Amino acid sequence: VKALPVDIGTPPKPLLTEISRRTQNPRLTTLLQPDNKEQLAEYLEGRQIHDVLTEFDDARFRPQEFIALLRKLAPRLYSISSSLKAHPDEVHLTVGIVRYKTHGMARKGVCSTFLADRVGETGTVPVFIQPSHGFKPPTEGATPMIMVGSGTGIAPFRAFLEEREATEAPGPNWLFFGDQHAESDFLYLEQLESWREKGLITRLDTAFSRDQPEKIYVQDRMREHAEELWKWLEDGSHFYVCGDAKRMAKDVDKALHEIIETAGGKSPEDAADYVNQLKKAKRYQRDVY
Ligand code: FAD
Repeated sequence: VKALPVDIGTPPKPLLTEISRRTQNPRLTTLLQPDNKEQLAEYLEGRQIHDVLTEFDDARFRPQEFIALLRKLAPRLYSISSSLKAHPDEVHLTVGIVRYKTHGMARKGVCSTFLADRVGETGTVPVFIQPSHGFKPPTEGATPMIMVGSGTGIAPFRAFLEEREATEAPGPNWLFFGDQHAESDFLYLEQLESWREKGLITRLDTAFSRDQPEKIYVQDRMREHAEELWKWLEDGSHFYVCGDAKRMAKDVDKALHEIIETAGGKSPEDAADYVNQLKKAKRYQRDVY
């Protein structure tokens, strides 16, 4: 029998229902009422299967029964952060290790800590390639690129830049990179600095949000250079965003609209139209998660 990995993180509904049925615990039974979806979500926040089993510890399962109530372990996606032209036999990933604490317990991200702590140098990992639709450097090597990345969102841009270096693409490249602290989070610092010295990176603007009393983000750096950024867009630049979907992508989108309004002298409606045109022309691409 082939072992299928299962997810022992977030408790699935069938498992909760079964725990409730077996324990008749009034608290859990109430949480599972159709009207209490919000309360259930609040309860589950930061809790894993282990926490629920510890709390409702009179639930008893036979191993097979228990496993059958779990979800299959979902694959994790990672951007490829290298170009095959620069590393013909390799694929590089840029993985942020997920570690946090909830309800008094240290937690580990399944895949990121597997890669960081457990697989070792000789272990193997099952992988598949999912092609990205449209999130790639411009076909024309002379087309300018503006790249905005936060944290591991730098990954595809390192690949883009390696590709442009390997193909000697003459187009200018502008990278905005943001994270919390320059000291610990400036990914690929040496490679980026060397590309800047060589002229492959035309502009490198960084925003380390926690290195000064006031928070500075990539979108603030964009606004500081609104005129220049507008000029690049008018010169046909592609605009890429990668990284945090919750805040960064929205804030960057907002800043882009504002820059088109202020530096491009457009009304909010015309700026929105300009952004839509960029999207239609596949010049505005996002890969956010
Ligand atoms: P999991 O076991 O999945 O745990 C993550 C979960 O833990 C979160 O969903 C959240 O529920 C919970 N959690 C995390 N932090 C906290 C906290 N502080 N408090 C409470 N709960 C918390 N990741 C990269 O590192 N590099 C990439 O290049 C990359 N590219 C991606 C591209 C795409 C298109 C997508 C969709 C995702 C990408 N990711 C990337 C994210 C990656 O797929 C994984 O989600 C990430 O590595 C975490 O997986 P994990 O198994 O380590 O953590």
